Amino acid sequence: MHQFIAGQYREGHGGEAKRINPATGEVAETVTYANTDDVDTAVAAAKAAFVRWSALPPSDRSDAMGRLADELARRASQLAAVETAQTGKSIRMSAEFDVPGTIDNVNFFAGAARHLQGLATGEYLPGQTSMVRREPIGVIGSISPWNYPLQMAAWKILPAIAAGNTIVLKPSELTPGTSLMMAEAAKAAEIPDGVINIVTGPGKSVGEHLVQHPDVMMTSFTGSSAVGRRIMEMASAQAKRVHLELGGKAPFVVFDDADLEAAAHGAVAGSIINGGQDCTAATRAYVQQSLFDAFVERVAELMSGVVIGDPTDDATELGSLISHQHRDKVAGFVDRARENGARVVTGGSAPGGDLAGGAFYQPTLIVDAAQDSEIVQQEIFGPVLVALPFDTDDDGLALANDTPYGLAASAWSRDINRTLRASEEIQAGCVWINDHIPMATEMPHGGYKASGFGKDMSSYSLEEYTNIKHVMMCRDTNAHRDWQDVVFRSKDNAQDNRRTS
Ligand code: NAD
Repeated sequence: MHQFIAGQYREGHGGEAKRINPATGEVAETVTYANTDDVDTAVAAAKAAFVRWSALPPSDRSDAMGRLADELARRASQLAAVETAQTGKSIRMSAEFDVPGTIDNVNFFAGAARHLQGLATGEYLPGQTSMVRREPIGVIGSISPWNYPLQMAAWKILPAIAAGNTIVLKPSELTPGTSLMMAEAAKAAEIPDGVINIVTGPGKSVGEHLVQHPDVMMTSFTGSSAVGRRIMEMASAQAKRVHLELGGKAPFVVFDDADLEAAAHGAVAGSIINGGQDCTAATRAYVQQSLFDAFVERVAELMSGVVIGDPTDDATELGSLISHQHRDKVAGFVDRARENGARVVTGGSAPGGDLAGGAFYQPTLIVDAAQDSEIVQQEIFGPVLVALPFDTDDDGLALANDTPYGLAASAWSRDINRTLRASEEIQAGCVWINDHIPMATEMPHGGYKASGFGKDMSSYSLEEYTNIKHVMMCRDTNAHRDWQDVVFRSKDNAQDNRRTS
């Protein structure tokens, strides 16, 4: 049963599909997909639940979300095991990054539910009192990707329900498991039925129907830029609100006074984390000329020492990619770069032996690629880093901005002026200084340019899921208000309309 609607697991009516374990290539389970009627049922459940959930005092929503954090903590090892089984990522990633990160998010939004901010109430015109209400929007339709299934579900669900909305989430058809478990945990936490609903299946049938459903008031989406554009197109027909977290191609800029050893470690960890299937992963290392050779040598050395293997083994540093099809896509990028004159310094192929049946790919470092080549410009979403040299600081920063994307970036230097300049000039939603990847739940995450708009995490994301209403109360007891002089041009007419109560 792969739908969770109105507090219950249900069969989907959109047909069956086999889910493959990417680390072995074997069939892991048969899943049933939703059809459009199932989506309608889920939206109706969310719409019905909205009436009560949105009217609860924030403290009640907060308490319920606090209980959700406890339920998730109780299920932590099970969640980590399912996350690894469905994605092929190392159990270390699932257990030490995904699950604790998700629980931290739940705890944050449980508190944030009680801290919605607005302008102070006040008198901005004579005789008028203005106040701002922040109101939930209604039913949110959310769509999430496969790379961090649990965390992406959390980033969509939590701010939405904390602000008083209800939600129908469609996770990636490749990774529905932990999103369903989260909804089940919400039920155990006594979050009312219908507040969180999960429908599973392909984007084209299930996702498009959800986005276009007339009772869905807003679509929040995390995924590729191409699908994000399609979502925006569909939403535009109904002038529906969208929140888009899209692809990335993060630059990693190393100035000539950087700590080389720290930068090399940062580049390897930042490019292969989660198999490089991370929208903020370091993908383009621009290294100032005098450090370039030493950087390439050290990164290659660290990459070749990475332990690739069975994702369920705690010693594994790099598990498999999400699917064989995706592995072949990553390999295709590397093969074409090679054919076009780039040089693979390390990696550049799938490992053989015991790992031949899985969707594994070696950590890969590429040099001698042209700035305008596809390997530098397009999102590969695999453990592949391209290193390119630059001369002046101006050049390094210009190259960093030279892709359509703008999600994340890092700059490495011991000079505060250089790093401050980089933080100002790099066009991205997050700029790390002397690090790459860590995130804080309190801080916003979201893109510039083709990486989308809207923020996940932090109180900024809570605001995304609210409508702002201005209420203006007139305290003037005259029938004719002073501002009406602009309408009633004749003084007599204005006088005639004046009376006191
Ligand atoms: P994807 O765009 O292929 O799919 C994402 C989701 O959209 C899936 O649930 C899919 O079923 C659904 N979908 C596909 N076509 C659809 C359609 N026509 N209508 C409605 N829904 C549709 O992305 P993916 O391959 O699952 O994930 C990888 C992408 O996600 C990368 O581009 C990555 O950078 C991006 N991502 C971005 C962030 C961020 O915060 N900006 C975070 C994680 C992943």
